[in-house]
Amino acid sequence: MPHPEMASSALSTDRRRRTSCLVCGSSALQAHGPTALSLRRCRGCGLVFVDPLPTAEEIAQREDAAFHGGVADHTGEMFEAYYRNYADDPVVRGFRTVVQHLAEATGGGTLVDVGIGTGLLLHLAREAGFKPIGCEIAPDAAARAQQEFGVEVRVGDFLDADLPPGLDAITMGDVLEHTYDPRRFLERAFAALRPGGLLYVAVPNHRSTTFWAADLLMHLPGTAGLGSRVYVSNHYWYFSPANLGHLLEQVGFRIETTRQEAPYLGRYNFSPPVRAGLTMLNALGRITGLEARAEAYARKPA
Ligand SMILES: [Zn+2]
Repeated sequence: MPHPEMASSALSTDRRRRTSCLVCGSSALQAHGPTALSLRRCRGCGLVFVDPLPTAEEIAQREDAAFHGGVADHTGEMFEAYYRNYADDPVVRGFRTVVQHLAEATGGGTLVDVGIGTGLLLHLAREAGFKPIGCEIAPDAAARAQQEFGVEVRVGDFLDADLPPGLDAITMGDVLEHTYDPRRFLERAFAALRPGGLLYVAVPNHRSTTFWAADLLMHLPGTAGLGSRVYVSNHYWYFSPANLGHLLEQVGFRIETTRQEAPYLGRYNFSPPVRAGLTMLNALGRITGLEARAEAYARKPA
């Protein structure tokens, strides 16, 4: 069933503010957090988003800057850690679990990874028996992944990418929050999959102890830094498991599995007090079921 918001969620190339929520269509939108962050929150479904969005060109530039370590100091070493000589850490084991599950649940075939990071997931997908293809907006990231892992990567926007028909699996780990239109990304994924094909999505979970603490603390003097740790300059959409699920279902997917996890802190450069605080929030998230990362496997009905 077409959703009323579909028509108006076209590529945002100007600075207009949204008049309705991307997920639920509600027009009850309110400011969220300090004005410097330009965040708004939907009172209907809880979606938090940057409004107005940067232009599509600025978004592409920020992804290129992120690859070159220019977006956040604490993530500067992450890219280097997951090239050819990667250590077998929780992030790698997480990737392996994803590609193995996708291989078992689809029977293998062609997998497209959208937003390839270092290309490591493509490498692991090939080990799991897939023919992997990457789709990456940052040209230097694509070139480096090809060089490190010998994987095929198509440079450009996923919405325009030239992909083989009838894909068996698509992975979008930490991607939707970077896009100018998550609905159109999911629609493209739905169209690109074969009937019965499987999509994996992972996003930061706004309904988590980490964001709860950030929202609480960023209004207090001297603690604004925490806000910029979790509301980073190349993330534009902050989902909860519920509103992400609604969006997937509106596009036509059937959700098979959802999961939450704590992000692995070992690869980030944090000061000891920030690390201690985030470790405590992760532990609290585990106990309360409000962890800072949300995942879903969603099937295109056969
Ligand atoms: Zn909403």
